[in-house]
Amino acid sequence: MFRVALENIATYEAGKPIELVIREFGIPADSVIKLASNENPYGTSPRVLESIRENIHKAHLYPDDSMYELKEALSHHYGVQADEIIIGAGSDQVIEFCLQAVDHHNACVLMAKTTFAMYEVYAKLAGVEILKTPSDIHRLDEFVRIYQEVSSKKRVSIVFLCVPNNPMGECLSAKEVEAFIEKVDKQTLVVLDGAYQEFAKAKDSDKGLDPAYLIKKYSNVIYLGTFSKAYGLGGMRVGYGIGSKHLIAMLHKVRPPFNITTLSLQAAIIALSDQDFVAQCVKQNFEQMRYYEEFAKDNHLSFIPSYTNFITLTNLSFESTHLCDWLLTQGVILRNLKSYGLNAFRITIGMSSQNERVLELLKQYIQKNK
Ligand SMILES: *Cc1c(COP(=O)(O)O)cnc(C)c1O
Repeated sequence: MFRVALENIATYEAGKPIELVIREFGIPADSVIKLASNENPYGTSPRVLESIRENIHKAHLYPDDSMYELKEALSHHYGVQADEIIIGAGSDQVIEFCLQAVDHHNACVLMAKTTFAMYEVYAKLAGVEILKTPSDIHRLDEFVRIYQEVSSKKRVSIVFLCVPNNPMGECLSAKEVEAFIEKVDKQTLVVLDGAYQEFAKAKDSDKGLDPAYLIKKYSNVIYLGTFSKAYGLGGMRVGYGIGSKHLIAMLHKVRPPFNITTLSLQAAIIALSDQDFVAQCVKQNFEQMRYYEEFAKDNHLSFIPSYTNFITLTNLSFESTHLCDWLLTQGVILRNLKSYGLNAFRITIGMSSQNERVLELLKQYIQKNK
């Protein structure tokens, strides 16, 4: 009854939910620390919460399907036109639209070996062959080599660049990204996933992508953004794509109506208007990240300098699964990267009280398991 393609797709393993830790280890809800899904530990802007409360009586109404107000706000924020924007239920859904809309006949898609898992899931559903670069982090020389090798036999329908990359944390510069786009055929869609751009550009302006500039110059580029990370709206599911008018018109053909909720729409509009909140979160993120970097250095663990709201520790002298399972019994949820084939784990940078507790437990663990 079911498609053969599904046999090769593992059900996505999202960060373990808080409810599981409460149920299995009897830990009270308010002492569970979840730093596994790169959510914003500071929540969302108080103005957003107030606006959701004020609009709660609209829950029975479908949202404005043109999403006029949110598109206006985003078009102002980025300096693009409203018809160069598409809204998705998270940028996840925009990735899905891209895979559905592009012609994959005699084609393959190209991505880094260790990158956002949903590119692969949607590519498999689209039935398109997947090529990956050999390195865990983005190396554009590898992307170019594979792109050119394959181009003699097949088309490359989509290239995914995750800038910065989840789950490794590294970030290409805007210059590198553009030099790569220059080498790519106009018939290849280049997806620039900017889920953590708010963090990256604050740390180093050379990493900041300018969607308005890129989509004007390159009709085959789409920039993806989300409200789930820096804006703290993971639970509301709002993301967007920015691309040339024609590209966005094609994606709209595969978008189902009312694909985000009335309250999500409202929340995103207000969230975008509170840039002070975002700036404050980003600042604290990098201040807190330093404690993890120091911990890693002190304990001879490796990490790639991160341009995101998480840090990934590698080069472990222990099994990441053993550590993560033990932490669960202590009420701490981190992201084990075993499912990526790596002995590594990813920590979302939390609030200072959370980070202190996690660092204390990590030190305990390393002491015991020397
Ligand atoms: C979190 C994330 C997304 C999208 O998240 P949504 O909640 O679906 O908007 C996209 N790409 C990367 C790399 C992410 O980490």
